[in-house]
Amino acid sequence: MSTLTLLPHRETALLRKHPWIFSGAVDKVQGTPNAGDTVEVVSASGKWIAQAAYSPKSQIRARVWTFDKNESVGKDFFHQKITAAIAWREKYFSKNSAQRLVYGESDGLPGLIADRYGDFVVVQFLSTGAERWRKEIISAISVITRCKGIYERSDSAVREKEGLPLKTGLVAGEEPPEFIEIEENGSRFFVDIRNGHKTGFYLDQCDNRALLSQHVRGATVLNCFSYTGGFSVAALKGGASHVTNIDSSEDVLQLAEKNLKINEFENSLFENITGDVFLQLRQFRDKGASFDCVILDPPKFIDSARNLDKGARGYKDINLLAMKIIKPGGLLFSFSCSGLLDAALFQKIIADAAIDAGREALMAQYLTQSPDHPVLLSFPEAAYLKGLMCIVL
Ligand code: SAH
Repeated sequence: MSTLTLLPHRETALLRKHPWIFSGAVDKVQGTPNAGDTVEVVSASGKWIAQAAYSPKSQIRARVWTFDKNESVGKDFFHQKITAAIAWREKYFSKNSAQRLVYGESDGLPGLIADRYGDFVVVQFLSTGAERWRKEIISAISVITRCKGIYERSDSAVREKEGLPLKTGLVAGEEPPEFIEIEENGSRFFVDIRNGHKTGFYLDQCDNRALLSQHVRGATVLNCFSYTGGFSVAALKGGASHVTNIDSSEDVLQLAEKNLKINEFENSLFENITGDVFLQLRQFRDKGASFDCVILDPPKFIDSARNLDKGARGYKDINLLAMKIIKPGGLLFSFSCSGLLDAALFQKIIADAAIDAGREALMAQYLTQSPDHPVLLSFPEAAYLKGLMCIVL
């Protein structure tokens, strides 16, 4: 096995079980490891630290598979890790037919995502290490889940940072149908795993959708960035009187409509607007429109530290506009999935938006990603989704 030697004093994070080794921490690599090969990581003084997957093109030069010298990284290793990841989810969080099964670093499997949609599993290999062991991983998932088929959605931009080409397609078993039907919180959804965002559905919002259901009886709801209608179905299930969806994509709104209909909500209960949320909110404000509840679940506005200010202004803008059109005593559910924006700053942005909107707001609940997307305590980067449920006075 090749050896990766760290520069002096660069082992601190690893000793706290953080699984990433940045290129700037590396002194030298002995041997000629290929991308994805397992290397032994040692400190400058020669102390053995970990076994990690080597990634020559990435800023994250290696990702730890194990801090145990005696563990062998191979078929059995992946079988055990995936079994463990699925076992605790089955025990504590398996009320729905769709959920995350493997969440990368948090499950000790850096770069691997696996989501279950009914009888099918969708996988993403997002690091050279995960890619190197794809056969073993696919075979373990097949055996453990006994799913009908496994579909790959390794078309995320992070693959490029690893020097890996984008890849999609069936990797095991039978072709999934065009739309897979799932059940979440007692509602039905069609998921397009081939063309949908991420692996097809925003599973991370599952519990927040359930929470929304509990607070919208009789309410008029504006669902901004609605995607395929996850929050809209949840709102109507919770007794909302009407839902307005806004999304810039006509395709996702068509699927939202399909999802509302299979849950037996009539056309009169919802409206779809294809458009830009920033513009639509301004139009609502100018018309004097108002809603009992507004949901803001935008795409990631901040994808690099360089974009922090610009992204922050985007969040402030939509939150300010939303607060202008929420009826007194109404609710705002506001989210950010930008990992680079920390929770404290997000809260401050919303506080600033309230001041500028001339409203007072109470944070009733702090929200985060659903528990099948847990945060390994030694890897806080796994926390990316944050949200506030606010009562806007
Ligand atoms: N809340 C959704 C997920 C939202 S994903 C759920 O629970 O399923 C973000 C959505 O915002 C995508 O569907 C994307 O098409 C849409 N979008 C991105 N930029 C937009 C904009 N400026 N205006 C309207 N929609 C936008």
